[in-house]
Amino acid sequence: DVTMPRPVAPRIMCVANQKGGVGKTTSAVNLAVSLALHGNRVLVVDLDPQGNASTGLNVPHHAGVPDVYDCLVNGVPLAEVAQPVEGIPNLACVPATIDLAGAEIELVSVVARESRLGRAIAAYPDEFDYLLIDCPPSLGLLTVNALVAAKEVLIPIQCEYYALEGLNQLLNNINMVQAHLNPTLDISTILLTMYDRRTRLADAVEQDVRTHFGEKVLKAVIPRNVRVSEAPSYGQSVMTYDPGSRGATSYFEAALEIAERGAKRGEEA
Ligand code: ADP
Ligand code: MG
Repeated sequence: DVTMPRPVAPRIMCVANQKGGVGKTTSAVNLAVSLALHGNRVLVVDLDPQGNASTGLNVPHHAGVPDVYDCLVNGVPLAEVAQPVEGIPNLACVPATIDLAGAEIELVSVVARESRLGRAIAAYPDEFDYLLIDCPPSLGLLTVNALVAAKEVLIPIQCEYYALEGLNQLLNNINMVQAHLNPTLDISTILLTMYDRRTRLADAVEQDVRTHFGEKVLKAVIPRNVRVSEAPSYGQSVMTYDPGSRGATSYFEAALEIAERGAKRGEEA
């Protein structure tokens, strides 16, 4: 049984890409479960009004459940809304309910609107090794809150045509947040998702992304694998639903790489 090294300091990673359907939620959920199953204390913050990460982790998030909206807009402590994830020790989730759909607009008139999530995280009393923020598919105030709160950005890129084209907008936003609100924010990790070995296109996209982002790109690549997409309907991650599947083994490899890089970052610091 493998133990993944724990980081020296807590890592706050924002999983972002304004494009929908590229594997943000799937990656946040499976990396979180993988890290937690191998000795790390992990908190997932669901920042998408769709609540897919909450669903994937089988955490109640129907209307009326206290959620991340209450933290952002009403200043409720994160600890009061975090829920344990059943069956995975050391993993908790701050769910998103439909309430969050209004937050993008309501936050506009709130004091320190870009740093509400950052403040909530700073005040979180429980210790964690990883905090993964699952962003919505947009670049509005919710994603800005995530970029301001995070130390690192993890960008999942789907291996398809136009994959790099859509990234410019995200990179511009990250630049802006670095310039004005969070100077040390680091695009630390790029993860290639939904890779289809049978197409030459996927290979070309992979090479493009590696040329462009170099060492930031994880060696592990997540293949398109039906077990990955089936797992959420059983209220599970693929890590527990089918641990032997190619989806699960590659998310494990990706999590291990992230953990090993984190241990190295600690040495350098
Ligand atoms: P996002 O959060 O970026 O919108 P999701 O993680 O929800 O993207 O993924 C979009 C869809 O693709 C979901 O239905 C998910 O189950 C499916 N999916 C994600 N990764 C894989 C994969 N590696 N293999 C097969 N299906 C996947
Ligand atoms: Mg999502």
